[in-house]
Amino acid sequence: MIYVVGIGPGSKDMMTLEAIKTMENADVIVGYKTYINLITEFIRDKEVVSNGMRQEIDRCKRAVEIAKEGKNVAVISSGDAGIYGMAGLILELTSKEETEVPVKVVPGVTASIGAAAILGAPIMHDFCHISLSDLLTPWEVIEKRLRLAAEADFVVCLYNPRSKGRSEHLAKAFEIMGEFKDGSIPVGIVKDVGREKEEKFVCTFDTMDFERVDMTTMVIIGNKSTFIDGDKIITPRGYTV
Ligand code: SAH
Repeated sequence: MIYVVGIGPGSKDMMTLEAIKTMENADVIVGYKTYINLITEFIRDKEVVSNGMRQEIDRCKRAVEIAKEGKNVAVISSGDAGIYGMAGLILELTSKEETEVPVKVVPGVTASIGAAAILGAPIMHDFCHISLSDLLTPWEVIEKRLRLAAEADFVVCLYNPRSKGRSEHLAKAFEIMGEFKDGSIPVGIVKDVGREKEEKFVCTFDTMDFERVDMTTMVIIGNKSTFIDGDKIITPRGYTV
């Protein structure tokens, strides 16, 4: 059996009990090195299969092989396994197998939800997740989604907002959304949610500082009703208060 486990954004406090139990009961743990380091206390003497960031296909194929040997395998994903995580890849691979390999997806707290709680209540209304990584998605598709999400006035949560190789993507994304997002719309930046170096910044669309953002950052852009109160960002649900 393969369990695809979302371990949350970093701290043990943000893991579900189901995620912890699943890791403890697994025979083998499979995952990217950085995430394995976040869960060492649940691994103890278990077999670990781990390699680098871009080797997820090999890692997941290995997990399927191990499960076919009759072992319980926990494939670790940060945040939620079903949001830019390993759940899709594992299910795509097992759907091609001739014999059935059972898979259970164990949900986790995704980065946007973790960041939103730190910022207050920015995702209180309709929202969308957009990843700025064009490694697996053509940049034209990302641009179209940014434009239409902004036009539809969604609260927008940006994953993979900025890396060394793609430092200009975030500024470009703001330029595209700027056609519809007013300069005064609140923007929340949360770095390293649930980890030791956790930091948050509240600004507006116009005063956005792209330099604050790196690859373990979540950027949340409000809608037309979102407002700032002290260090909190609030998107009204629509109540009359
Ligand atoms: N499956 C993960 C997302 C993986 S994509 C989840 O559900 O959270 C990787 C992106 O997620 C990062 O570039 C960053 O934008 C975001 N992210 C992951 N962990 C984070 C954390 N602890 N703090 C802030 N953002 C994080």
